[in-house]
Amino acid sequence: MSFQTLGLSPALLRAVREQGYHAPTAIQAAAIPAVLTGGDLLALAQTGSGKTAAFALPLLQRLLQSAPARQPRALLLLPTRELAVQVGEVLRELARHLPERLKIAVLFGGVSINPQLMGLRGGADIVVATPGRLLDVVDHNALRLDGVSTLVLDEADRLLSLGFAEELQRVLGLLPAQRQTLLFSATFPKPVEALAAAHLREPRRIEI
Ligand code: AMP
Repeated sequence: MSFQTLGLSPALLRAVREQGYHAPTAIQAAAIPAVLTGGDLLALAQTGSGKTAAFALPLLQRLLQSAPARQPRALLLLPTRELAVQVGEVLRELARHLPERLKIAVLFGGVSINPQLMGLRGGADIVVATPGRLLDVVDHNALRLDGVSTLVLDEADRLLSLGFAEELQRVLGLLPAQRQTLLFSATFPKPVEALAAAHLREPRRIEI
């Protein structure tokens, strides 16, 4: 199996090569073509499986096929600041050769909100955020979520176990009903099952 056969653009393949990735991991081989079709995805995948690139690569490719807007077109929710920063960095690395410059905003709590609000002036194409700070930013009228066409819930089990269930419900209520939702989780306890049942539409299921 090679990255060449997965349907990714030359600019993304170049970035993948520069990352030193020679062959897709199992989750990448399964998830990338599935996400490119535009359907929902429910993936059971551990950290270390290569899951970040498994959602980042097809997400970037799909953004190139949609019309630019001043509002974010993709939203990625993560349970911790560290993960948000890390996923933001992976997206930036993989997007580096794309013909269209995509603006990626990373929002997390525990630091002053003002630089994050300033950073959103002029818009962002992709927002990577922890749920609480995302809602703070929305409440400051610095961000609208009604243009989001792809939602990624990463480490969904931790999002719920860390007490973000209410925030998550509120965020979900701000998003268009018509969208692509990708849910990644290392475990699949009842609350994650309920979240998936309520918010994913006929998802492809991938278990690695
Ligand atoms: P993740 O599971 O997304 O946290 O990724 C775990 C690690 O695997 C990261 O250090 C990635 O840079 C690396 N990685 C992701 N995809 C590949 C690949 N196809 N080949 C080699 N390393 C990879």
